[in-house]
Amino acid sequence: MNRYPKDFKLNEAIELSKESPFSDLHEECGVCGVIGTDEAAHLVYLGLTTLQHRGQESAGIVSFDGRTNRHVGMGLVADVFRKENLVTLNGNCAIGHVRYSTTGSSSIINAQPLLAGTPYGELAVAHNGNFTNAQEMRKKLEQSGSIFQTTTDTEVIMHLIAKSGEKNLIAAIRSALAKVEGAYSLLFAVKSKNKHGGEGTLIGVRDPLGFRPLVLGKLNKSWVFASETCAFDLLGASSVREVAPGEMVIIEKGKEPRSLPLTDRMPKKSAFCIFEFIYFARPDSKIYGHSVYEIRRELGRQLAREAPAQQVDCVIAVPDSSVVAAIGYAEESGLPFEVGFIRSHYVGRTFIEPSQHMRDFRVKMKYNPIKENLAGKSIVLIDDSIVRGTTSRKLVRMLLAAGVKEIHMRISSPPITGPCHYGIDTPNKDELIAAQKSINEIRKYLGVTTLRYMSMEGLLKSAKSGNYCTGCFSGNYPTRLPARKGAKGEIALKC
Ligand code: SF4
Repeated sequence: MNRYPKDFKLNEAIELSKESPFSDLHEECGVCGVIGTDEAAHLVYLGLTTLQHRGQESAGIVSFDGRTNRHVGMGLVADVFRKENLVTLNGNCAIGHVRYSTTGSSSIINAQPLLAGTPYGELAVAHNGNFTNAQEMRKKLEQSGSIFQTTTDTEVIMHLIAKSGEKNLIAAIRSALAKVEGAYSLLFAVKSKNKHGGEGTLIGVRDPLGFRPLVLGKLNKSWVFASETCAFDLLGASSVREVAPGEMVIIEKGKEPRSLPLTDRMPKKSAFCIFEFIYFARPDSKIYGHSVYEIRRELGRQLAREAPAQQVDCVIAVPDSSVVAAIGYAEESGLPFEVGFIRSHYVGRTFIEPSQHMRDFRVKMKYNPIKENLAGKSIVLIDDSIVRGTTSRKLVRMLLAAGVKEIHMRISSPPITGPCHYGIDTPNKDELIAAQKSINEIRKYLGVTTLRYMSMEGLLKSAKSGNYCTGCFSGNYPTRLPARKGAKGEIALKC
């Protein structure tokens, strides 16, 4: 069900929403799958609500009973699924997806899970990540006669599976994934026609570098996959383990999970996205073997050690994503943590007339400073990252207008100097303020007294053990990269 009225210009609204204070960076998808209970789709629905921060533009669920059931729609999980949709999603195997997309691709046709008839049975897929060679693969597939129904990179994998010529689905998935590059945490649900997979088989796969998280949990006799463990907490499932980089976990009805390597040539090191700790993952999740809350708080502590501020009254955060780092900073520096902004959680995607005057309302709709708590004070303002700088600048103006005397801005990540190619929607390099200006120039642009970023060493030290991707900060991308088109107006080859 589409929640927008018929005459609503979705692409225009999304274009406008990209200038909003809460859309500088986007995780591009969350996945959840359940097998082994007749309530599979209902549990997936609940799981998706906890993963809503990973994608807010569309949501969908596919389930298998004797039939194939699919419901997808534009909007938040709670808007897309109503009682009348959920009761149609029968069966004991279901997968679901929440999605964020780039401009031009926000369309119901791209909502996942995708579903297709294949030689191996009806196959549904939900994807978190980004195939970096998707355009190249798509071109080849089109030249060989494939007709694409969507503009997502995920569909490439469906065509590769269908055309693989392998004797069973598992071999077909392995063969297809051997041809793609980049980041993928994938869930497949198959209603199989042959002996190589029972009806309602659930498969979880993580790319060999493990860019995006994917965890396996257990709930009574059923099994659950989710992007983050916060989904398990809601469902009452216990967290069993992470799907390992380069692992395929196959769960057939009534059987224990089976594990297979995706490839015989595994890379020596993983490349977990370090930005999940800084901003994307929920603090109540555990990913890459660590508590997100603990790492985020340590980032704040480390920042306080590296970049103390003199003669300040208190520490405040840009809510919500910077709160935990700000608590860590306050703890380490011995300064009081104060609530400086109240954030409205009810704004959502709002259609506003495209005049500059009206656009200025966007930041104000989301954040309001508590003047009584700020007037006359010198503050440390903690933010997790600066992307274009436009939002930070507006927040600084609001604080100064509220009577703040001095702002010492501290960022709990290093400067973002390059785009992400692995499933995070980032602007092009020429829109990234840290790729264009020196730190002092950024400080002046923002209008703050001092500005300091986390060092790369401090970030890696705080993230503890693990091999991480730091590409957007360091320029060291762990895979071959495609030529990147402009972010605006590009065809969406992301999940
Ligand atoms: S480039 Fe940045 S956002 Fe993308 S996977 Fe690497 S660390 Fe994460």
